[in-house]
Amino acid sequence: FPGLALARSAQGYSRLGPDFLTELSPEPVPGPHWVAHSEPCADLLGLAADWRSPEALALLSGNGGGGGAGNGIGWASVYSGHQFGVWAGQLGDGRALHIGEIENKGQRFELQLKGAGRTPYSRMGDGRAVLRSSIREFLCSEAMAALGIPTTRALCITGSSLRVRREDVETGAIVTRVAPSFLRFGHFEHFAHHGLLPQLQQLFEHVLDQHAPECRDAAVPAAALLERISRQTASLMADWQAVGFMHGVMNTDNMSMLGLTLDYGPFGFMDGFDPGHVCNHSDHQGRYAYARQPNVAFWNLHALAQALMPLVPGDPETASEPLLAALESYREAFPAEMLGRLRAKLGLVSSLPQDRELADDWLKLMAAHHTDYTIAWRRLGSFDSSAGASNEAMRDLFVDREAFDAWAQRYRARLQAEASSDVERRKRMTAVNPAVVLRNHLAEGAIRLAREGDFTEIERLLKVLLRPFDEPVLASDAGFPPDWAAQLEVSCSS
Ligand code: AMP
Ligand code: MG
Ligand code: MG
Repeated sequence: FPGLALARSAQGYSRLGPDFLTELSPEPVPGPHWVAHSEPCADLLGLAADWRSPEALALLSGNGGGGGAGNGIGWASVYSGHQFGVWAGQLGDGRALHIGEIENKGQRFELQLKGAGRTPYSRMGDGRAVLRSSIREFLCSEAMAALGIPTTRALCITGSSLRVRREDVETGAIVTRVAPSFLRFGHFEHFAHHGLLPQLQQLFEHVLDQHAPECRDAAVPAAALLERISRQTASLMADWQAVGFMHGVMNTDNMSMLGLTLDYGPFGFMDGFDPGHVCNHSDHQGRYAYARQPNVAFWNLHALAQALMPLVPGDPETASEPLLAALESYREAFPAEMLGRLRAKLGLVSSLPQDRELADDWLKLMAAHHTDYTIAWRRLGSFDSSAGASNEAMRDLFVDREAFDAWAQRYRARLQAEASSDVERRKRMTAVNPAVVLRNHLAEGAIRLAREGDFTEIERLLKVLLRPFDEPVLASDAGFPPDWAAQLEVSCSS
């Protein structure tokens, strides 16, 4: 039908068959309606302006249509994984249903309905997602993309009058997610753990064909793939740390094989800077604290390496060697990526040996004063580097103003060392230090209204988040979080 033509390509994941996925249809919902949509995501897919037809609403709310084949209009895939450091056994798309693909400008995208009903991988779950968490995933997917951070995308949210039981009874919603692939580390872990070697090989061939053709030419393709994903993940972690993003549930089943931010649940953005901050209220041990994310990613890459072992040809005794060498690339890439992000955030164009220490001391200063992470970086763009400038707006962010002055003295000297112009530096810094990120209280404002049937705040907030480096019209979007924000608890319940 007009506007949203889905296909199933012969190269897509579904060709792999029943060992990899189950064909099924979504479970229909009562009272389907549009909640929100993203124009940039629609553009990415090349959709016509009138794509939000009644047929599209039916399709994206799980009430019919689609371009599937087989026994259902869609399919759910099986995967396994490590959750909170422990082998969790079989998981899978418990509430996500692939409904087809769209090709635009030579790029192919999979569309997935999150919250479309039970699948064979739902375990104890109901296969549903609530409006609250759907709004958070939708907004954050599009906000991350606008920040230039690799992520799965979100085309729209459809709502329904379906009642969904969590701590309270809420209403159901479905996010239409979009990505070239939703493959996770956990897909490889699944077949490796269960000793399904022909299937592991098939999965590997599929990933090489569709997503990493250059790895075929390497001496050990499995190691080349691991190095590729290690480097992508290193870059992604640097992106997250730089912008103060916390994923909250960095289990191996939530780690993308394409280095995308994947599965938005109890995520958060840093308010007052605390490297030990844990955004997920259900993470009692703080395994996924902000400062731990880069190491957790490395741990997860080891789990992936383990799963890739059977794919290394030759003597099993020495199979781990090329994989361990590939993992080493993360240890080199992450610090380099991170330092690069920090230099850019400081507005530096050259590289000097003392930059790491200058950046670290700035982070330590912010941590000691619990300074608002986004606001401090943003204000640093307006730093006046002329001798004797007091930089009051910056100083005011620190209780111990002399501590700031001491650091500012070093920053000033560093800027002078590269003959930095304040005007030019400010332009560079406002292009990398966002004014607006999706803080919990901003999402909460949109959620509260949406529960009353008013979706205008989602739309307004999305517009702001799509231009995160511009000063927002409403100053509060870029302001300090209100006192009540500290009381917000975000858990795995979604
Ligand atoms: P997560 O912690 O959100 O990454 O989810 C872990 C696993 O639980 C995945 O296999 C999900 O598909 C599944 N899951 C989470 N919530 C639900 C739900 N409400 N119904 C069915 N499966 C779910
Ligand atoms: Mg998940
Ligand atoms: Mg989830």
